[in-house]
Amino acid sequence: MSDDAMEKLVSLCKRKGFIFQSSEIYGGLNGCWDYGPLGVELLRNIKEVWWKAMTYREDVEGIDASILMNQRVWEASGHVDSFTDPMVEDRKTNERFRLDQLLEENGIDVAGLSAEEMGTLLRERDIKSPKGNELSDPRQFNLMFKTFVGPLEDDSARVFLRPETAQGIFVNYLNVQAATRQKLPFGIAQIGKAFRNEINTKNFLFRTREFEQMEMQYFVAPGTQDEWFDYWRAERWKWFAQIGLPERKLSWHEHQGDELAHYARAAFDVQYEFPFGPGEIEGIHNRGDYDLSQHEAFAGKQLKYFDEEQRTKFVPYVVETSIGASRTLMACLVQAYHEEEVKGETRVVMRFHPRIAPIKAAVLPLVKRDGMPAIARQIAEDLRPYMRVLYDEGGAIGRRYRRMDEVGTPFCLTVDSDTLEDQTVTVRARDTMAQERVPIAELHAHLESRIDAWQIP
Ligand code: ATP
Repeated sequence: MSDDAMEKLVSLCKRKGFIFQSSEIYGGLNGCWDYGPLGVELLRNIKEVWWKAMTYREDVEGIDASILMNQRVWEASGHVDSFTDPMVEDRKTNERFRLDQLLEENGIDVAGLSAEEMGTLLRERDIKSPKGNELSDPRQFNLMFKTFVGPLEDDSARVFLRPETAQGIFVNYLNVQAATRQKLPFGIAQIGKAFRNEINTKNFLFRTREFEQMEMQYFVAPGTQDEWFDYWRAERWKWFAQIGLPERKLSWHEHQGDELAHYARAAFDVQYEFPFGPGEIEGIHNRGDYDLSQHEAFAGKQLKYFDEEQRTKFVPYVVETSIGASRTLMACLVQAYHEEEVKGETRVVMRFHPRIAPIKAAVLPLVKRDGMPAIARQIAEDLRPYMRVLYDEGGAIGRRYRRMDEVGTPFCLTVDSDTLEDQTVTVRARDTMAQERVPIAELHAHLESRIDAWQIP
């Protein structure tokens, strides 16, 4: 996808009600976006596919922990000390940049380098700011947002907006285990907002300050973590097809040396081929016993698992799968966007996997007379308990089809004069524009089976 197409996609997202700039009438707020009527539906559908894949199984439970937590959680997790990015400042304009990104933009591979090594490279190569000015020495910037609970703004009342959902899972691990009587190995999954005061936000939804994560922590007996790490890598890789992201656009990136987060023993990212290059959408991490051991030490509470068969007690190891819902949604938007020539006109079509498409079917009376609107409305009503359906009677049928193509509606159901005779409608497919007649009584089953059978082009 070209830069030009990316611009068109961003504008389509606003025009059609997928994504709006946050507080737009006030000039916006950097790194924050709002989901419009179609965007929220798309996001919910992606989350639903994830939730079902991850928790509708015997060995994974779901939770929804609060965003604000005791500040000691973040001391224990290492985020207060280590959740930082190296930052440099333009000495003239005071603009701030993430050092690693700036070096990469200057063609320098920073994989595995420490902040110090990057600082040295900055000087050696005499890198300037994008405006050509001198840069300050790098310093570490903590990405957590701070606020206060209650009326007193002192250190004891300080809390952080969570920068990841994982910690809500760790601190609840024994509660969940006791409540569900799960035995190792088992996992806990959660979907929720996370906040990071990113130094630079860019690329639309890719790097934002407020976003949503879908995380799962899988607790395993020490010694089995490598096997489970491989298992979850394979499971997660397969999952992307369910939301229409093809394997050919995905790649693995293995973290090396200093690139590894403070908690991680091994980490692999799944990258999607964005218009600006490959970008991480999911991380799969072997966290060892780092988090639970830290919480044991900081909270002074036992977080050991008692293995009844072996009569032993130990701190489980953790394999984590961590995916950004908003970043994944952006990948789905990029993947879906297509322009093609049809009869001398450009057709814009969002080829979402029908499973995540915000509207599954549009019901269209060919004309506004002969009882067609009433039949069409009834069809829409009958389908609504099962899927999101739109009724549209405004304008020429071709224009109504195009409007649905642009928002990725996989099926248009047209009621015409034949319908009055034989109780069938035309089902027009978004991708091929092919049409077939289907009895009204069979519509629901017909659509469901086509949604399930859809293949990534
Ligand atoms: P990056 O290196 O891009 O900053 P990260 O390695 O810090 O990301 P993780 O901490 O592994 O990311 O977070 C897990 C997932 O959360 C990422 O794969 C991504 O999909 C999502 N995510 C992280 N930061 C952001 C952000 N600022 N905006 C949107 N999504 C994000």
